[in-house]
Amino acid sequence: IVSIARLNKSFGAFHVLKDVDLDVGRGEVVVIIGASGSGKSTLIRCVNSLEMYQSGRLTVDGFNMPTEADRKIGGEKELARIRKGVGMVFQQFNLFPHMSAIDNVAIAPIRVRGRKPDEAKATALRLLERVGLRDHAHKLPSQLSGGQQQRVAIARSLAMEPHIMLFDEPTSALDPEMVGEVLDVMRELAREGMTMMIVTHEMGFAREVADRVVYIDHGRILEIGTPAEIFDRPTHERTRTFLSRVL
Ligand code: ATP
Ligand code: MG
Repeated sequence: IVSIARLNKSFGAFHVLKDVDLDVGRGEVVVIIGASGSGKSTLIRCVNSLEMYQSGRLTVDGFNMPTEADRKIGGEKELARIRKGVGMVFQQFNLFPHMSAIDNVAIAPIRVRGRKPDEAKATALRLLERVGLRDHAHKLPSQLSGGQQQRVAIARSLAMEPHIMLFDEPTSALDPEMVGEVLDVMRELAREGMTMMIVTHEMGFAREVADRVVYIDHGRILEIGTPAEIFDRPTHERTRTFLSRVL
């Protein structure tokens, strides 16, 4: 569903991603780990074109995502269509502060997909139920805990019926006691067969849920393997050093 080949991305003269190759199959859960500044966020942001890349090939749902040069030429409509199929959850929840949980979840389907408000809200309520927040549907974000807000953010992404979900450190901004409830929701999504690319420092979660773990080092994929391969018998010294620091 995602195919990345020899992807290169720079910010000005700074070469962030170097010849990245990665394929993600339907229903697969890929966890991306690596040191701060190694390019994890940039990589997943390229997948939904929040960042543009300069060279290589990136296809999502069979669509060739445009490079920076292509974007100057156009094709925004087609790109917008593909992006709707890619959900993204960030460290910061970015909920609309003046809208209730249910309105936060229903707004994009209404505005972007043209759903009827009643139907969109019914769907939103089902999604909030799925993330354990049915009883909190009418609260404002400020009336919810961080973990609850992040679960609303996940429900909001799901409301667009994504084919793939991208997560960039979804639990990093949370108090420790709230991490579990968000990981539980992600675990459930994985079980239901959602394709996911997840940047996280939660190594226990990665080991349990990932089909494959990618270790990225200074913008290069140094190692890809099953959790057992990466965590128990990493082949690169640098992977070992990184893991010894985080485990
Ligand atoms: P962290 O674990 O701290 O989130 P990361 O692996 O997600 O790190 P990225 O955010 O992808 O790292 O950043 C990779 C490199 O690219 C870093 O050196 C960062 O400073 C640089 N970078 C990221 N975004 C930009 C930008 N918009 N402009 C210039 N440089 C950037
Ligand atoms: Mg990051």
